[in-house]
Amino acid sequence: MKLNPGDNVAVVGNASTLEVGAEVFPGLFALDALKFGQKVALENIKITEEITRYGVCIGYAKTDIKAGSRVSEVNINPPSVENLRNLDLKGIIDFTDEIEVKPFRRQTPFFMGYRNDDGSVGTRNCLAISSSVHCVSGVVKQAVSQIESELLPQYPNVDGVVFLDHAYGCGVAIDADGASVPINTIRNLARNPNFGGQIMLVGLGCEKLRHSMLDIEKADLISLQDSSASGYQAMLSDILRQAEKHLTLLNLRTREKCPLSALTVGVQCGGSDSISGMTANPLVGELSDFIVAQGGSIIFSEITEVRDGAHELLSRCTSLEVKEKLLQEFIWYDDYLQSGGVGHSANTTPGNRAGGISNIVEKAMGSLAKSGRQPIVDIIRAGDSIATKGLNFLAGPASDFISGTLQFAAGANLHIFTTGRGTPYSIDGFPTVKVSSNSELARRWWDLLDFDAGPIIEHGHELVDLRDDLVEKIIAVASGEKTSAEKLGISNSIVLFNPAPIT
Ligand code: CA
Repeated sequence: MKLNPGDNVAVVGNASTLEVGAEVFPGLFALDALKFGQKVALENIKITEEITRYGVCIGYAKTDIKAGSRVSEVNINPPSVENLRNLDLKGIIDFTDEIEVKPFRRQTPFFMGYRNDDGSVGTRNCLAISSSVHCVSGVVKQAVSQIESELLPQYPNVDGVVFLDHAYGCGVAIDADGASVPINTIRNLARNPNFGGQIMLVGLGCEKLRHSMLDIEKADLISLQDSSASGYQAMLSDILRQAEKHLTLLNLRTREKCPLSALTVGVQCGGSDSISGMTANPLVGELSDFIVAQGGSIIFSEITEVRDGAHELLSRCTSLEVKEKLLQEFIWYDDYLQSGGVGHSANTTPGNRAGGISNIVEKAMGSLAKSGRQPIVDIIRAGDSIATKGLNFLAGPASDFISGTLQFAAGANLHIFTTGRGTPYSIDGFPTVKVSSNSELARRWWDLLDFDAGPIIEHGHELVDLRDDLVEKIIAVASGEKTSAEKLGISNSIVLFNPAPIT
């Protein structure tokens, strides 16, 4: 598969390996064995010449590369990294192309969601229990398991109990620069629309993270040291009694017809392969364009993955102010990485490379496709919540759990996650629709993933037809259909981004 007419490499889409001598294109024969997802040189490329994929230079030939040879990190030097401090924003040309979004196959799509007092809408109706320090984690876990077995069956309209367990709260430099990131994240997680404003907070009593810093509305605080409860069983009873009160209120809620403008979808990728950038990610891009056109919001993040597409992103920002915000976030992250002695190319994983992605530039071009083509209306700082409807960039890391946690805290009520290598990833209370980049993985992981974008290459399906299938899936899940991970009862822990020191 050749993605752009100007490309001098193509990607192998065949499920079985092309052996040496196999005809790749008419008149072009493989000089190396070529596996699914790997790149092949379409012409003789001389040392130092550009390697082009997606119509973009993804690096320079380290050696002379013969037509038909495999092209990988072994024979590509990545492009040098641009210092964004020297960038003149006035020189960025705005992207003004008309975005054409094909209408949906059905008229006026809607989903069945839970309306909240603040105008937000939940796709789940869960009781959330937050904590102000990790010391209480063991006790709360036991309480949650009792709530699930003893109380939950009596409240059929409540979808579940979510413990927002984290390792923050004490032993940290609470006043340091950067501490606002984990603190804001903990506060905003509890405010997610999927929790209906019924929040419980369990603390210890002597921790640095005070209840007042979290400012969680309607929160009931249980402080283990301050409670008059005598012994462990009494502590559990306290928590269960509070839970009962909140479950009663949550149980009064029912699903109502809501427009797609009430959706805030966090999009992410993890365990990507070389095909992700051609199938699952552009498919999610089509969905993003559609949700935004419906008046809804899309949050994309993964700063280290899109850093090499800085120019494209800046040109899509709707104002100089948004551009400035984005640039400052990029610079902050560059400094953050540098303080740890790493460059942003530390992002690619052994799995990425085995899947055919040679470097971060190639990964960036594939990752960026998830954001579609709509203008970027605002930048969300890590830990903050969304303030402007439309396409938003959240300036946080690419790590799956951290990125997902930050999108959840920003107010996303649904999650789309693309993968090519496969991951069982999911976050409790944040329904995660996993999209496979290839049909082989979708077949093998039939009960772990939710949607197959493979037909785009396997059967030449049009992106827009498959987009409508994905929209149908999103509507079903937003309306209460369980995701694969929810059915299996598997989920990952939330993980906070804490750029501040630990003491
Ligand atoms: Ca990721």
